[in-house]
Amino acid sequence: MKKLLSAVLAVVMAALVMVPGFAAADRCPCGETPTVYVAALGSGSVILDEGTENERTLFRPETGDILEILLPVVPAAGELIVTKDYDKFGDVLIGCVNEAFGMLALDGNGNSDPRVTSEEFHPETADHGGEHSYYFGYDFRMDPVENAEKLHTYLEEVEEITGHENVQIRASSMGGVVMLAYIRLYGTSDIETIIFQNCPLLGTAVAGELFNGKFEINKDALVRYAECALPAIEIDFVSGLLYALCEAFDAAGIFEALLGMVDGIIVNLKDRVFDECLIPIFGTLPGIWSFVPDEYYESGKEFMKLDPATQAGLIAKLDFYHYEVQCKAEELLRGAQADGTNIYIVAGYNMQRTPLVTAYMETSDGTVDTKYASCGATCAPIGSQLPEDYTQARFNDIDYISPDRMIDASTCMLPECTWFVKDMLHSTTHDGHGEFYDVLFASEEQLTVFDMEQYPQFMQNDTINQTFVPVAELSSPVEDAFNMMQTIPSFLNFVKLVTVVIETVVDFIFKNIIPAI
Ligand SMILES: [Zn+2]
Repeated sequence: MKKLLSAVLAVVMAALVMVPGFAAADRCPCGETPTVYVAALGSGSVILDEGTENERTLFRPETGDILEILLPVVPAAGELIVTKDYDKFGDVLIGCVNEAFGMLALDGNGNSDPRVTSEEFHPETADHGGEHSYYFGYDFRMDPVENAEKLHTYLEEVEEITGHENVQIRASSMGGVVMLAYIRLYGTSDIETIIFQNCPLLGTAVAGELFNGKFEINKDALVRYAECALPAIEIDFVSGLLYALCEAFDAAGIFEALLGMVDGIIVNLKDRVFDECLIPIFGTLPGIWSFVPDEYYESGKEFMKLDPATQAGLIAKLDFYHYEVQCKAEELLRGAQADGTNIYIVAGYNMQRTPLVTAYMETSDGTVDTKYASCGATCAPIGSQLPEDYTQARFNDIDYISPDRMIDASTCMLPECTWFVKDMLHSTTHDGHGEFYDVLFASEEQLTVFDMEQYPQFMQNDTINQTFVPVAELSSPVEDAFNMMQTIPSFLNFVKLVTVVIETVVDFIFKNIIPAI
């Protein structure tokens, strides 16, 4: 008996010794931590009636589908010009929008209609070296907390398939919202590094203002918005031509005339569009609510008529994200650092924000305001500088003011690990970003904006040469345009220089010569 017992014990002991042995054999020795890209809004398709003959992608919709659905708006707009019957036009417009997006709406508990499903993501390969990055997408409508739960499963699967115990994360735009919720739920013990790229960590004004009914189209903002997006076209000659065209249209008053028409529509139909489209569809989406900054949140809940009786479950989800995640961003990010995770924040600036809301003067990457993506920078309005007498708000022994005096980074939650890329369009990257991120990922220690000469806190985006150059001081518009043309010689910058020179000359003639005659 004793012999049998010791034999059994020996087997058990051997098994115990062997288990860690097996686990160790499963570990990957490559030394390269797998990278997971937590993608932006629209990364996971939202599908109506999947697998049936009526299957249709609700988001992002195919251009053909959208054109087909919106087609009736064109004759209705023609009729509107003649009849000025806004209500009739509204019927058509609202009907079309509801057909295109109505099924996206969530119920009173923040759950989807069962007919609407979303793509699921799982790691597809064990290859994780070199340039490979795992891609995590999600249903943008849903509560970021629910998407964080899915991300948790995804990261476990990546660790399992690769044989690594840790991952590193690059989160883009809404991906940062999901990541922040993840930190709140699970912490970061198995995450070495997180890069937040253009993320609405504290929200974005376009959501806050829309959900408060502050809808406005400003002509100058619209022109700047179109022009800011041009470098992303990548064909320099085309973007240069389009820039010249925009300026010519603007000078000829064409935008003004078009906006006059749009203004009539806004004045006459705003209330109906809110009551019949925005509130019943977009007002029910926790994903969109997660973009609402704190100063707009409670008033937004009121304006969007959330009903505590029928939407209690939804409201509870919204409040949890808002108060337990967004409002605790600093605590969560600093906590992650204290747990040994390197945190990097990258924000774009000097781009015209979506010109649909009253906050069109806020500097941004075109979508997310710099002050929210950077977690708290103090920013001058777009196109201008901090006042002459402005002094840095905090940490006066370290310089946190940008050379162009547009940004004071000292008010950021993590000023020493927040970078600003001038003229970076929302989540639009090139090889220069990739090289920068590689340097950040390669470091075991938390790097700061003072550690790398090549990557100072304020960097000018150079989309032509796919790199960054340090942000320069500003002087007169002509001199700035000339310097820009010298630093980044491109057709677009040449056209910009010519335009500034013409504007300056015309301005001079109107101010000095004509009055004298
Ligand atoms: Zn490996």
